[in-house]
Amino acid sequence: MKLFDSHAHCDDQRIENEFEGGCRAYIKYQLENGVRNIVNIGTNLENSRISVALSEEFDEIYATVGIHPSDTRFYDDVDYVISEIEKMLSLSKVVALGEIGLDYHYEDTDKEKQKLFFEKQMQLAKRLDVPVVIHDREAHGDCMDIIKKYPEVTGIFHSFSGSSEMADELVKMGWYISFSGTVTYKNAQKPKEACATVPLDRILIETDSPYLPPVPHRGEMNHPHLVSFTCEQVASIKKISFEEAARITAENAMRVFNIKIQ
Ligand SMILES: [Zn+2]
Repeated sequence: MKLFDSHAHCDDQRIENEFEGGCRAYIKYQLENGVRNIVNIGTNLENSRISVALSEEFDEIYATVGIHPSDTRFYDDVDYVISEIEKMLSLSKVVALGEIGLDYHYEDTDKEKQKLFFEKQMQLAKRLDVPVVIHDREAHGDCMDIIKKYPEVTGIFHSFSGSSEMADELVKMGWYISFSGTVTYKNAQKPKEACATVPLDRILIETDSPYLPPVPHRGEMNHPHLVSFTCEQVASIKKISFEEAARITAENAMRVFNIKIQ
């Protein structure tokens, strides 16, 4: 099985607390239960460093490093943060800068500060020519405005929540679209429509675990091996087999992250 979870947080505190043996035992369990590769995503400097360490310990794990919009509240010195991210981006199993972007769902993070960190990280991605992982929650307009300022930079819109028109525009600009468990939710028409619109060679699948569990696991903690449910949903929307959807989304992930698996 080639299932590739393009976005997970295996070092999340909930996993450390609830899974016996902590995050390393947890990753082993996931890899033994149906997922072949996982990209572990950084959201601040501390867990970006943990992601790097995990990618060095496990052949199947890759890392991203970056500052999530909600985590910008931990930092004041943006130049220091950028220089720390730049150091980590030179490491071999760090495959993208992310997750970065805008999150307007909660009122408690300054929007101007989010935009500053987002733009500084887009500028770094441009300078180093690396893909980015975008987190866009209830901020579609501002997110699109910022990425359009950096047409050389592309990557992945993760757990896509925009319209099919937005997905279409992003694909034309060279972006990949990643679908999470939300595409399995009965009432979630938008991600289903977006998935129908995006060409097969631009689709990724992810869990965003421990968040966003797919149907039939809503209300529980999510895990990378549950990416199979999202794969199944994508296969049914695209009218292809589960195996084909698994293979194609894994190939897409390897292409966008520049991963070469022997
Ligand atoms: Zn995430």
